[in-house]
Amino acid sequence: MDNALRLQYLEAMGIDVWVPRASVQCEQSLSSEVFIDNAEPETTEPATDNWDELQAEVTNCTKCALCNTRTQTVFGAGNKQADWMLVGEAPGQHEDEQGLPFVGNAGLLLTEMLRAIGLTREEVFITNILKCRPPSNRDPHADEVESCNEYLQRQQKLIRPKIILAMGRIAAQTLLKTDEPLARLRGKVHTLNNTPVVVVYHPAYLLRSLSEKRKAWLDLQLAIQTVKDSEG
Ligand code: URA
Repeated sequence: MDNALRLQYLEAMGIDVWVPRASVQCEQSLSSEVFIDNAEPETTEPATDNWDELQAEVTNCTKCALCNTRTQTVFGAGNKQADWMLVGEAPGQHEDEQGLPFVGNAGLLLTEMLRAIGLTREEVFITNILKCRPPSNRDPHADEVESCNEYLQRQQKLIRPKIILAMGRIAAQTLLKTDEPLARLRGKVHTLNNTPVVVVYHPAYLLRSLSEKRKAWLDLQLAIQTVKDSEG
């Protein structure tokens, strides 16, 4: 799709286009507090893991009842050696149909958010807490999250990203094992298995509340700063 057409398409959907900026004045301290989570990874994965095995296990997974209603699993997509690992909530209808994460309208906005910070979808790894679509896109149930957790942990171990972006409340609360509201989780650098975690608004929420776009931009700036800090 050429660029002009893409912009028209985004405008028609009411999506503001994210344009990279050389520098941004952040109101929020980017050197925010660092919260250390010393929790040991809870995995039962084999001693030597590999992508083919993991992907096959996910494809054939029957650990929870979502296997009865899914069209197919959505493993995740992108660079398997990415510096950035993005984690959403669960596949929606389009993702369930196509077997790929973030392919609907929220996905389009996510692509634009990445462009704004100089990244492409191919450079990052995008996945979800749940690998199967919950019926009618309801919130994930605790047993579903529990069943799927191992896959996400194994993905993180194989990728060894420099940063994890937790997109939205469910992803943030699940990854950080907390009930804190999103507003309290944003603007800080958390850690999961020694990897920094930054919480950002879910793109689907931003589509409904574009007034939050400025705060979303601050979240991304915090993420960029965190990666830079990790590179020393
Ligand atoms: N929302 C998510 O959280 N994940 C997707 O893959 C799509 C929409």
